Amino acid sequence: MDQYNASAVEAKWQERWETDKCFVAETGSEKPKYYVLEMFPYPSGRIHMGHVRNYTLGDVVARYRRARGYNVLHPMGWDAFGLPAENAAMERGVHPGDWTTENIGAMRSQLRGMGLSYDWDRELATCTPDYYRHEQRMFLKFLEKGLAYRKESWVNWDPVENTVLANEQVVDGCGWRSGAPVERRLLSQWFLKITEFADELLGAIEGLERWPDRVRLMQQNWIGRSEGARVRFALSAPGPDATDGIDVFTTRPDTLFGASFLAIAANHPLAVAIGRDDSAAADFIAECAKLGTSEAAVETAEKRGYDTGLTVQHPLLGDCQLPVYIANFVLMDYGTGAIFGCPAHDQRDLDFANTYGLPVIPVVLPDDVAADSFTVTDTAYTGPGRLFNSGEWDGLSVEDGKRAAIRALEAGDAGTGQTTYRLRDWGVSRQRYWGCPIPIVHCESCGMVPVPEADLPVELPQDVEFDTPGNPLSNHPTWKHTSCPSCGGAAIREQDTFDTFFESSWYFLRYADPDHPEGFSREAAAYWMPVDQYIGGVEHAVLHLLYSRFFTRALRETGYLELDEPFAGLMTQGMVCHQTFQDQKGKWLFPTEVERDGDEWRDIETGGPVIAGRIEKMSKSKRNVIDPELIISTYGADTARLFMLSDSPPERDMEWTEAGVEGASRFLKRLYRLAGSTDLAAKGSAVPTAGAPADLVRATHRAIKAISDDIEAFRFNKAVAQLYTLANAISDLQDRSDEANAARRFGIETLTRLLAPMAPHVAEEMWQMLGHDTMLASSPWPEADASLITESSVEIGVQVNGKLRDTVSLPRDADDDEARAAALASAAVIRYLEGQQPKKIIIVKNRIINVVV
Ligand SMILES: [Zn+2]
Repeated sequence: MDQYNASAVEAKWQERWETDKCFVAETGSEKPKYYVLEMFPYPSGRIHMGHVRNYTLGDVVARYRRARGYNVLHPMGWDAFGLPAENAAMERGVHPGDWTTENIGAMRSQLRGMGLSYDWDRELATCTPDYYRHEQRMFLKFLEKGLAYRKESWVNWDPVENTVLANEQVVDGCGWRSGAPVERRLLSQWFLKITEFADELLGAIEGLERWPDRVRLMQQNWIGRSEGARVRFALSAPGPDATDGIDVFTTRPDTLFGASFLAIAANHPLAVAIGRDDSAAADFIAECAKLGTSEAAVETAEKRGYDTGLTVQHPLLGDCQLPVYIANFVLMDYGTGAIFGCPAHDQRDLDFANTYGLPVIPVVLPDDVAADSFTVTDTAYTGPGRLFNSGEWDGLSVEDGKRAAIRALEAGDAGTGQTTYRLRDWGVSRQRYWGCPIPIVHCESCGMVPVPEADLPVELPQDVEFDTPGNPLSNHPTWKHTSCPSCGGAAIREQDTFDTFFESSWYFLRYADPDHPEGFSREAAAYWMPVDQYIGGVEHAVLHLLYSRFFTRALRETGYLELDEPFAGLMTQGMVCHQTFQDQKGKWLFPTEVERDGDEWRDIETGGPVIAGRIEKMSKSKRNVIDPELIISTYGADTARLFMLSDSPPERDMEWTEAGVEGASRFLKRLYRLAGSTDLAAKGSAVPTAGAPADLVRATHRAIKAISDDIEAFRFNKAVAQLYTLANAISDLQDRSDEANAARRFGIETLTRLLAPMAPHVAEEMWQMLGHDTMLASSPWPEADASLITESSVEIGVQVNGKLRDTVSLPRDADDDEARAAALASAAVIRYLEGQQPKKIIIVKNRIINVVV
């Protein structure tokens, strides 16, 4: 028999699957549906090992469900708008569209080489007008419904690149690409009203039972519902612009008696008013603006403030005045942009108070601590306890104190109970070329006018230049000039494009109905949605996954579909890791540049010593990457797939090792030889029912059951281990009788079918070698015979006075007399009884026998 030739076999079956349209989802099928989806990739140009893992996991699910009789939808597409294409355009002068199309072509062929069972007829790329025209229409519907709006908002502005930066693109207060200090600017931006669904999105998390707890918790925290109070602090004397008070939102109204200062954000209207006449205040405000708008930046910065000289009246304490600061750690877009500082019970407030010599008044006493011995110096106390130093609230718990505070504020007309959310509306405007144009026209007489549906799509111009800083759409000589759809006068197009999360918030619906003139039909959405199993990286736990949950609801509100949740099941796969290597000078080396030398490693080219470092997530910067293409060309896609599955449970990180790949490769070659063995009975031979051959038949049925259960529970590593067990059981049967040959055929045929979702090419080849002319890709899953799964005998522990002394082998479900006799016949039990008569014998059927003396 020939050696297994992976590249020839894999190419052959990929072609067969495609010509036979094995993976095309059926329309109008009577079968139950199953929609399995992996998060679609950004077309960077090459697949990496993270993709290989993600898509292999999805493919096992898709192939298994298909074999189980489901009408499976398993599509693939491209999240094709985004910044890297524009950067490539700037650096290499290639058009973002051409760059993207070329990358898609390269990655598509790499994915095909992995033998993934995609319905390629439904492939989509979000950068095509045929895709983005639909989201322009959705946006107009959102606008009609009040779910989209435009407002002035504070943004991180990169003065060199002339663009808004996301919080993640601000590094140490500077633009991530330009390195220029970022400014806070007030800019008109488009927003989607995700906050309108804050309570619904939060409440529905509970129903997402097939989502990882970790992701559910992250969404919960991101939405961040907090109960608290809005408190009015009257200014002791009117401030600039006749301001007479400052509103504060607090989640800790119970600590009001511990207040020692008020702080307002640098861009709070009062701060801005003060800055007009006070140049020192203005300087401080300008400095704060350099900090950017992200919570993380604010959290880590040194807490600094500017004393405005104004004071406010404490709302509950008649004779208490508090100073008002402008502070760098207060954010305008959380709560009201103002806080009261209670240093004893908030670390930021304490750091601030210690810097500026403000009083620290503890008002919450931890349990079991005496009031006179409790002080707060460097660490704020944020735990539970009883209120003290708080007048008539003394002795109340924190929770009761909050309620008492809200009652007192409401009674004195100084405040009210309020719920707030950490969640902000989703700003979707980007000053970028390579995105979906926002279908709005600005007219001097009519204001903002939506582009009429009949004029969609608003297409991106092709002829753009990237050599001037700023948005190429604004720099384009003609594109922005148009006529007003309302009055016909001269008008200017909106030049911002959508955040690319806009595209990924509904692509799963487009797959359901890829040719529908309105994006997708209600019928297709009703049939295919929700996605039964979604698989992707945990880094999308909040943004993409939360936006999609919101977007689906917004589409529901605008009449597109009847659905709340887009993803019924979610699996977040772990990372692919690899050992890191450095030479003596600290230069990172690729794994292909080093080789083992006994216990040491050395540089293949120079022979110099190499330091083997930590096992870390594969990353270009540390060069600990393995190119999937190299693995596939060396070992074949099946080997890569099998190793990916076998190493660890999917949700955990895995380590890519040469030894692991070699092991997977050897195993597949061994299975291939098994399928080609000569001592197999003819196809269709009756399976034996007695003796050792029947044991193999039973072991095979047990494997069917175990592997089915493991695949359904995503324990793919255990499913692979079961394949090894079954292969060993087949090899261990030494008998060459007709019965044994029949059992072997049954074992190998079944193993081939069980292997198919994981290593599909070699499984098809083995199936053909076994004499079949059907394809496994369209064959049903084997059924386990329940009557053959249970072992005929069981091992039962025998205890004497509760201590395990022996085990005995009994027929399954043996009666109590038989069990008692077997226990008393045990040599170990006889020894421990030392001639005494047992008082009683307790029997738990099939599990344990306890002899009590
Ligand atoms: Zn007009």
